[in-house]
Amino acid sequence: MLIVMTPEATAEEIAIVLDRVESLGFQARALPGAQRTAIAVTGNEGPVPADRFESLGGVREVVRVSAPYKLVSREVKPEDTVITFANGVRVGGDGFEVMAGPCAVESREQILETARVVKAAGASFLRGGAYKPRTSPYAFQGLKADGLELLAEAREATGLLVITEVKDTESLPLVAEYADVLQVGARNMQNFSLLEAVGRVDKPVMLKRGMSATIKELLMAAEYIVNAGNAQVMLCERGIRTFETMTRNTFDVAAIHMLRHLTHLPVIGDPSHGIGLWHGVPALARASLVAGAHGIIVEVHPSPADAMSDGPQSLKPYRFERLMRELEAIRGAMRGLDAEAR
Ligand code: PEP
Ligand code: MN
Repeated sequence: MLIVMTPEATAEEIAIVLDRVESLGFQARALPGAQRTAIAVTGNEGPVPADRFESLGGVREVVRVSAPYKLVSREVKPEDTVITFANGVRVGGDGFEVMAGPCAVESREQILETARVVKAAGASFLRGGAYKPRTSPYAFQGLKADGLELLAEAREATGLLVITEVKDTESLPLVAEYADVLQVGARNMQNFSLLEAVGRVDKPVMLKRGMSATIKELLMAAEYIVNAGNAQVMLCERGIRTFETMTRNTFDVAAIHMLRHLTHLPVIGDPSHGIGLWHGVPALARASLVAGAHGIIVEVHPSPADAMSDGPQSLKPYRFERLMRELEAIRGAMRGLDAEAR
């Protein structure tokens, strides 16, 4: 349920409503918006008695939230969440940010060189796994703590923000010390202990869609993180498993649109895992932008043939540079269309 306050409601009136919610045994969360404050009521199994709130001062209306995800839904918060970083980069709203780098951090030379080229091409985040969740226990598992050190060095050298995967609750404190964004991978989308744990950390999280997860399950997983106290969550469409075998996954462009429609959280497209083939990455990156994504995460490697993971889907630097120019041109065209529509 959502209690919508009038724009004139005072802090005291809001506090009285919060107290009333808690005295009835529910949880209350104030959501300050541009126009008015709303109070989300969660923790209820059945209906909350709306009449206990309607008569309180400063309350405009009491709305039933029909979606099972509450805190992440647009019903509860109509305006986009924008995640702002210390260097001024913003993810969400009207912006489009590019996260780029290798699948895994492999060596000092590899990560520093990739960081330099993606920065020069206009990316704002460096991606790179230090802890890699691999299908095979015999495959390269990542440089772990040494990889985090190398990412920090690359951030220092370029000013890029760092996004890296957190694989489990054990490594979370260390990863959170180094990362600007904690990536929760597809294989962990429904690892509820990990979701609650990143929900208690004061760092933005990018939650990737599970391989066989519905859009609703992705939103419910995000709800775990926000409910645990961390509202800085972005969602990532990275392709799902279907009957198709020609591509690594089936990239669900419709999910980008549906997520924009259903949630206020920023939405990121991952064309690399979405198709698994480098030659398809630019097309899906462009599709992500046009479908409404707030950004993309792309695998780039100085020498894809030598990559220790995901080489076949990694772009060479010059192809990434070309893609960045294409995205800029498309953004210009989209701005023109917006202006015409107004
Ligand atoms: C990755 O980003 O390299 C990765 C492992 O992605 P996913 O969790 O989507 O498979
Ligand atoms: Mn990868």
